Amino acid sequence: MTGLLLRNGEVASRPATDVRLAHGRVTEVGRSLHPAPGEEVLDLAGGAVLPGLCDSHLHLMALAAARGSVRCGPPHVGDPGQLAAALAAASPSPDGWVRAVGYAESVAGLLDAPALDRLHGTRPVRLQHRSGAMWTVNSLGAELLGLAGADHPGVERTLDGTPTGRLWRADDWLRSRLPAPAPPDLGGVGDALAGLGITSVTDATPDLDDGALAILRAAVRSRALPQRVHLLGAPLESEELGDRVTTGPYKLVLSDSALPDLDTLVARIATVHATGRAVAVHCVTREALVLLVAALRITGARPGDRLEHAALVPPELVPELAETGLRVVTQPGFLADRGDDYLADVPPADRPDLYRCASLLGADVPVALSSDAPYGPVDPWAVIAAAAGRRTRSGAVVGAAERIPASRALAAYLAEPDDPGGPPRRVAPGLEDVVVLDRPLAQLLSAPEAAAVRLVVVGDRLIEPGDAQASP
Ligand SMILES: [Zn+2]
Repeated sequence: MTGLLLRNGEVASRPATDVRLAHGRVTEVGRSLHPAPGEEVLDLAGGAVLPGLCDSHLHLMALAAARGSVRCGPPHVGDPGQLAAALAAASPSPDGWVRAVGYAESVAGLLDAPALDRLHGTRPVRLQHRSGAMWTVNSLGAELLGLAGADHPGVERTLDGTPTGRLWRADDWLRSRLPAPAPPDLGGVGDALAGLGITSVTDATPDLDDGALAILRAAVRSRALPQRVHLLGAPLESEELGDRVTTGPYKLVLSDSALPDLDTLVARIATVHATGRAVAVHCVTREALVLLVAALRITGARPGDRLEHAALVPPELVPELAETGLRVVTQPGFLADRGDDYLADVPPADRPDLYRCASLLGADVPVALSSDAPYGPVDPWAVIAAAAGRRTRSGAVVGAAERIPASRALAAYLAEPDDPGGPPRRVAPGLEDVVVLDRPLAQLLSAPEAAAVRLVVVGDRLIEPGDAQASP
């Protein structure tokens, strides 16, 4: 695509506005622009033109892998019988394994190898918990992995030393024991994301190895993955990564199960800061947040330091968070996806603390919205609807006081990738990557849905949502 003239669109609430693009960049915004020779002209019939959306926290390789996996949690699967049927119907990957993702205990309880055998015992199965923190394998899988003789600390064992089939935060080890996977379909992921209006992403996977880095960079270079990509898992000593791939803050995981002590965390943050990089700290529980705030009081925050998830923020920590200078990258989409489970599992007194938005913004904490896909719903319009309504699948509301207007939620998707929670980009000359809607923005924000995305210009590619096969 070289030249494109979008006519009769809506820009920043102004109807009948034209937008000219060349090589993927806006060059002119105004009324009654005349087509240049050779320029493609498109009548938008009042549809809005927006900056492309940035998903500030997702996992590209896991999204690609999820496309070839059995979905084994709600709403796809709800009980043991449905799970067994889904596993039986799964076409195995070329290595013979059945890979299942998105598992929730509400389906068939806490699984171990014998329990998984009863659901599917004829082929090796590995099943990932929807948190992403745990895999469970059946007995055939355990045998193929050599689990009995494994020395990884994440391999859970009974008192007599028998592996239970559960592997905690052991993805690297697991990968090293599995046959080399087929190349991930990042092109499919990129098209699906673009079809939703997402033109840049921050990959939040910690500790990307050389192989994953090479695959991601190659996919961006070839434009198979059209999005700009910001990496939190780039190695600390990483050099410039190249066109459209940038190094972000460095990801630290405060694991929910094994928190470091304060001195260790202070040392880790100081080490990262000393290299000139900010930190992006995975922090889900109240205890982890208290620890992080204490550590940052000692180290001081660097501009760009981020708090990932902030799933539970007690009210007394909101002003302290504001004082640290941290920005929050959160995922209210989990309320839509898992809210009914939260209502069952989270004590009533803690529910107002879940995935806060309004109170953080009210305390001047910068907030960016994101998906955490594939662990949370990837569709930004569903996340925006969740931020505005905070409704669960069953229609219950979680933390009504934390609702924010849909327009504010959209703005939390429009900042630069290296400035999550910062000011939204604007449709103006110089802007790279735009989204064209089939309707005015106010109409979409009254009932957000991805179907409104008509066209996406990203990195000199023009993508129509119909091009994408399915959401990732
Ligand atoms: Zn994540």
